[in-house]
Amino acid sequence: MKILLSAGHGGTDGGSTGADRGKEKDRTINLANKVANYLKNAGHTVTVNTEKTSNGSWRFKNRSGYDFALSIHFNAFDGTATGTECWYKGTQKKASTLSSAVANVLEIKNRGAKATTTLYMMNIGFDNLLEVCFHDNSNDLNKYNANIDKVAKAIADTINGGSTGGSTSSSSNNNSTSASSYNGNSIVDYLKSIGQDSSYNNRKKLAQAHGISNYTGTAAQNTKLLNILRGSGSSSSSNNSSYYPKYNGSTSSIVDALKSIGVDSSYNNRENIAKKNGISNYSGSASQNTHLLNLLKQEKLKK
Ligand SMILES: [Zn+2]
Repeated sequence: MKILLSAGHGGTDGGSTGADRGKEKDRTINLANKVANYLKNAGHTVTVNTEKTSNGSWRFKNRSGYDFALSIHFNAFDGTATGTECWYKGTQKKASTLSSAVANVLEIKNRGAKATTTLYMMNIGFDNLLEVCFHDNSNDLNKYNANIDKVAKAIADTINGGSTGGSTSSSSNNNSTSASSYNGNSIVDYLKSIGQDSSYNNRKKLAQAHGISNYTGTAAQNTKLLNILRGSGSSSSSNNSSYYPKYNGSTSSIVDALKSIGVDSSYNNRENIAKKNGISNYSGSASQNTHLLNLLKQEKLKK
């Protein structure tokens, strides 16, 4: 593919300022170059440039001639906002997968795909605009600084639609669903059998990505993760992988019920779950929560 990477800001436009006083324009070009290396490694033709010219005017007027064009930015707000998000106009393109891939690497909130009609880069036809993290939040920034290569690879792998190879050992964002012939009960052996990193850290990331919060590697969590991964695989068990496991307890609290089956019960996640189950205006009201709980009890709560 011919890929265009636009490093946010540039020239006299420094962009926002990070918790370390670093400029957004320096971080974006540094990351864009690393992403480009991974993509070139995988055989793509990549152009990298700053979004603004030296005098601060927009460099790109359109994205014609490229198969995929990504604009890379770092967010800033009040020093406490956190997470990864990715913008799109019209169709999502890779917004949702880019956002989750980066958030998974950084282990920060996945703010997800966001629609816009006003961002310049989107209006000139760029496919997505990625806000890697909030670099004015020292926690986001520290995690980013510790994982720059992994973030670059996660972005490159997502654009590539599969691993770009290369030197970092992060397979955590590889959500490929290779079939496995392994039939035992060990999550470690199962991951090995599909060629994935079976380390505790990667299992923790996988657990998080599949709604198991507070992963500590207990037998119950490992079994649950194994079942989820098998369920989402391309072969074998066809049991309700699109629904949460049935809740059999007696609590009247959706929060407690979700916790008991190892699912993230935060407001944000409940809002996500609500959306997937037809509640678009979730506010956490008693009737909405009861509705979700009833679905969960009937094994009808969609993931
Ligand atoms: Zn920016």
